[in-house]
Amino acid sequence: NIFQVAGMLAELNKEQREAATTINGRILVIAGAGSGKTKTLTTRIANMIANQVKPYNIFCATFTNKAAREMKERLSKIIGEDNTDKVWMGTFHSLCVRILRKHAHLLGYEQKENRCNFVIYDSYDVLKLIERIYKTMNIDGKYKPGLAMNYIDNAKNNLWTTEYCLYNNADSETQEAMARVYHRYQEIMKESNAMDFGDLIMNVVTILEEHPEAADYWQSKFHYVMSDEYQDTNPAQFALLCKLAEPHMNIFAVGDPDQSIYRFRGSDINIIMDFERHFSPCEIIKLEENYRSTNVVVQAGNSLISNNPAPYDKVLRSNKEEGDKIEIIELATEFTEAAYVASKIKHMVLAENYNWSDFAILYRAGFQSMPFEQLFVHNFIPFKVIGGTSFFEREEIKDASSYLRIIFNRRDDAAMLRVLNKPTRGIGKTSQDAVEDYANNHSISIYKALKSVDNIDSIKKSAAGKIKSFLSTLNHLEEKSQSNMGLSKYVRYVLEQTGIFIMYRKRAEKEKDGHERLENLEEFINLIDHYEKKNPNKPLDEFLQEMSLITDYQKDGEDTTNVVKMMTMHGSKGLEFPVVFNVGWNEKIFPSWRSSSEVELEEERRLAYVGITRAEEKLFISYSNQRSRPDGKGIQSYDASRFIDEISEDIRTKSEIL
Ligand code: ATP
Ligand code: MG
Repeated sequence: NIFQVAGMLAELNKEQREAATTINGRILVIAGAGSGKTKTLTTRIANMIANQVKPYNIFCATFTNKAAREMKERLSKIIGEDNTDKVWMGTFHSLCVRILRKHAHLLGYEQKENRCNFVIYDSYDVLKLIERIYKTMNIDGKYKPGLAMNYIDNAKNNLWTTEYCLYNNADSETQEAMARVYHRYQEIMKESNAMDFGDLIMNVVTILEEHPEAADYWQSKFHYVMSDEYQDTNPAQFALLCKLAEPHMNIFAVGDPDQSIYRFRGSDINIIMDFERHFSPCEIIKLEENYRSTNVVVQAGNSLISNNPAPYDKVLRSNKEEGDKIEIIELATEFTEAAYVASKIKHMVLAENYNWSDFAILYRAGFQSMPFEQLFVHNFIPFKVIGGTSFFEREEIKDASSYLRIIFNRRDDAAMLRVLNKPTRGIGKTSQDAVEDYANNHSISIYKALKSVDNIDSIKKSAAGKIKSFLSTLNHLEEKSQSNMGLSKYVRYVLEQTGIFIMYRKRAEKEKDGHERLENLEEFINLIDHYEKKNPNKPLDEFLQEMSLITDYQKDGEDTTNVVKMMTMHGSKGLEFPVVFNVGWNEKIFPSWRSSSEVELEEERRLAYVGITRAEEKLFISYSNQRSRPDGKGIQSYDASRFIDEISEDIRTKSEIL
């Protein structure tokens, strides 16, 4: 609706409007927190569509699924749901999956009925695979699996192929070992018809670079390439954006170098700083007005971040009232800290008309949520941990989805190994090891090894029989998937036939959280039912692909809107809340004990800047004098975080509640 778009544009200030209404060319919006970068980006898309740009010609990368969902919600009110759904908006990973569904076969992945049906390995699958490779290379005692995980991830973030690593990047013994692990890892991934998260992006770049007809297809589709949170782009993502934009060179990016906080995942702050060098001639637009936070909060952020070398000339002033001073609270332990926060929130809800949803609790590391969860339950405060152990990472859900994965792709080794003997069906550890060895020695998938079970001498007759009947169950289930019983009924059927339901029912009688597991399985079926209703014609394996990407699933039907949110500072990027509690501001916790170099400290300081600038009205920062050590080895004294002193003194007050 053209009038609504005009209304949206009218809300913007001059610089924002300039950015939102310039449709062609290369533009970088570089500005501090809360200055309306994301709002400008959203408005720009609405304005483009009002000006006859086709929604499916727009590629827009967001940092999280949640951010994409929120943007789409806003957009659909203005340009309608139909248009909004056609915009290619989502995380780099989810957008790449869509591209790969069409073209992954060019890299040798399986294709059925014009769709590539690779599976996506999550970090658990990856870990298991690396352990397997270590074993065959006889280095399992020597290196931790995490080392190879990081190595492989880093290689892919930088678009380093296995050949490059083997021949150019193997100076030390360790490096050489890692390069060899990476090489073998990629071979097995291909054989398993699988990709990890790093592959999703690197494979798209490879396709665009090596297959001109595919490159042509996507380049002539995406006339406009956009990115939110550009400061956290990694080299692979950058290459992807450049490649897609190559013929049109319409690039729009927004970001804040002071909020670059994912260096450990390969983000490179230089990418935003070099925008002009990469894309000249271009327009750089700065925004200086903060519409989110009170003056006090903006000053707090500014004074803190001024302790870092300034990446560019930056001005940020609040457009709102002065606001309350920042409250710094010193407490005895992390439990009194949690009790304080709980009682403060309760008081503000009961006496000051706040809603639960007005509050966020931010911490440095996931484990810090524990005392807060405990005390909130105790105080009957509704809350949700955002981005903790996700629903999809629970054991029972992974079992269920592994079965579904191998039904559709027998070569999925990770899923196969997970459920081969789960529930127990007489294929014991010795047989499993024999199968794995056979697969490794012959460079074939676990499935192929299972099929050749008669050739594996060390497997007993009885176990071989069990394996055969397991394989025929899979065949039966695959056939059954062709019948028109509907997805959710079918999944229930699979869970019954494979014995998963029986196993968890038995465990529910014995285990403390067994009932919850059964409920989760039911919830999983509900979710598929829900998905089926929304996407009537989509096959189950598409659901499985999407599922691997979701990290912030929320239970359907449960009221998750009016709850206090708890999350890491990393997870809070881009979000805003009326009242924010930054907790655990202790030296060695935040900045983390792992961050000792100047570069690392600067990154921690940017994280503090993100944490502070989430607050709209009120900001609390707390720390405790003593706390349990993260490694569980007793209690220890901790100092207050240096970052507290870096906030201007005149805008903070301090209380001790010991
Ligand atoms: P961050 O760096 O944290 O991602 P941002 O620059 O993306 O922040 P937004 O989230 O887009 O900022 O905007 C912050 C808040 O300010 C939002 O609530 C938004 O609606 C509001 N806002 C932005 N621009 C304006 C404006 N011109 N008039 C009124 N409100 C605005
Ligand atoms: Mg933003």
